[in-house]
Amino acid sequence: MNIILFGPPGAGKGTQSKNLEKKLKNFQVSTGDMLRDEIKKETKIGKQIISYMNDGKFVDDEIVNQLMKNVIFDPKKKGKFIFDGYPRTIIQAKNLDIWLNESDQKIDYIFFLNVDKDTIIKRIEKRKIIEKRSDDDLNTILKRYDTYMETTKPVLDYYSNKSNFNEIDGRLKITEITNKINNILKV
Ligand code: AMP
Repeated sequence: MNIILFGPPGAGKGTQSKNLEKKLKNFQVSTGDMLRDEIKKETKIGKQIISYMNDGKFVDDEIVNQLMKNVIFDPKKKGKFIFDGYPRTIIQAKNLDIWLNESDQKIDYIFFLNVDKDTIIKRIEKRKIIEKRSDDDLNTILKRYDTYMETTKPVLDYYSNKSNFNEIDGRLKITEITNKINNILKV
């Protein structure tokens, strides 16, 4: 079963993806983690994207799509994806549709974790202390939220009228969100 977890930064996508990964034995695909890894390894892509990420801006679709293509065609992961933080733009969403179609796959469930700006600010400030991410300071958080609203909102519109779209109140406790997701998935 392929799943998309969708929502603003700090909505709890990563936490829920990890729960689902364990429960379903699926594979979490976090573009944020993949991009941070490129920076850590100081690859050519890593050097290109570091300033975008630290500024709270989206990385170019071309770079993200380049990284994702190999993942989606990986036979070991076929039909077992949990997309976390991807797709974030219409171009990415359309590419994903094409690649899934070409590899004889589909998206089975889309979960939108809906959270307001104030909750996100509180959560990310807490996360900054724990994870020490360089893009988790208040200014960057606000920029990331605005970028999300501007660029990702059309993706939400793209998915929200599909029958496999499920909106969940992301302000709920982690366990409550997990239960809601599990109930919908019947797992
Ligand atoms: P995340 O870990 O999902 O919160 O992502 C952290 C940062 O990585 C974002 O603020 C973007 O700069 C970049 N990023 C992650 N996923 C994407 C994506 N699908 N498209 C463009 N940029 C992304």
